[in-house]
Amino acid sequence: MEIRWGVWSARKYFLDKMTLGDLVRAYFTYYAIMAYLLLAVLSIIAAVAWNQDTVMSLFAAALVVPVYPFIWYLLHRFVLHGRYLYKSAATASLWKRIHFDHHQDPNDLGILFGALYTTLPTILVVTLPIGWVLAGPGGAAAALASGLITTCFYEFCHCIQHLPFKPEYEWLKQIKKLHLAHHFHNEQGNFGITNFAADKMLGTYYARPKDIARSATVFNLGYTAQEAERYPWVARLSPERRDEAPRKTDTPEAA
Ligand SMILES: [Zn+2]
Ligand SMILES: [Zn+2]
Ligand SMILES: [Zn+2]
Repeated sequence: MEIRWGVWSARKYFLDKMTLGDLVRAYFTYYAIMAYLLLAVLSIIAAVAWNQDTVMSLFAAALVVPVYPFIWYLLHRFVLHGRYLYKSAATASLWKRIHFDHHQDPNDLGILFGALYTTLPTILVVTLPIGWVLAGPGGAAAALASGLITTCFYEFCHCIQHLPFKPEYEWLKQIKKLHLAHHFHNEQGNFGITNFAADKMLGTYYARPKDIARSATVFNLGYTAQEAERYPWVARLSPERRDEAPRKTDTPEAA
């Protein structure tokens, strides 16, 4: 169950009906984003209080920035797009929440954000050892703060990618185009969100939709009607489902 409170308790948010201003308000009042920001402030305070080596602590925080997109790439490609989580009753609802639903309806802001119970442990596991090895407890706190702020940036970029507007910055325009291709053209590539270096290194990058064949499973991630018969748990939790192949109107070129 999601914790919904404040403006979020009263309604659902759909990006196709929102402006940038609406998004900013919804973003800063979402419980997970508020939790990241609060924990980031506490981590910065801890990093200062426990500081042993300022240079190494800052280095640990900086190192998290490029490491992070790689970890998310691996999780997105092999866990979220893996075919095993829906095959067990125990993990089906987790998989549905963390990625199936987002590909079914990328406009639903409530499921676009990562679920705190999956993101927070990931952030802790990735950042604390890096920081601890480099600069002890102060470094661990610094690395954690960096991981939390990076997550907030990540989540905001992901929202922008699904918001129907044309960004001014070339870089934003580019990552939006690549992520929409992941959603509406072929989901077996462009797993990055803010950074596509891992896609380029590991062979899943495509610059334009015409560089790769359309995928028939962009909305169901391979959880087809046939699969749903064998592994019914996700289907039981999903009253409606989208199985259709990518449509021309959904491709970023037509947007
Ligand atoms: Zn995604
Ligand atoms: Zn997305
Ligand atoms: Zn995906």
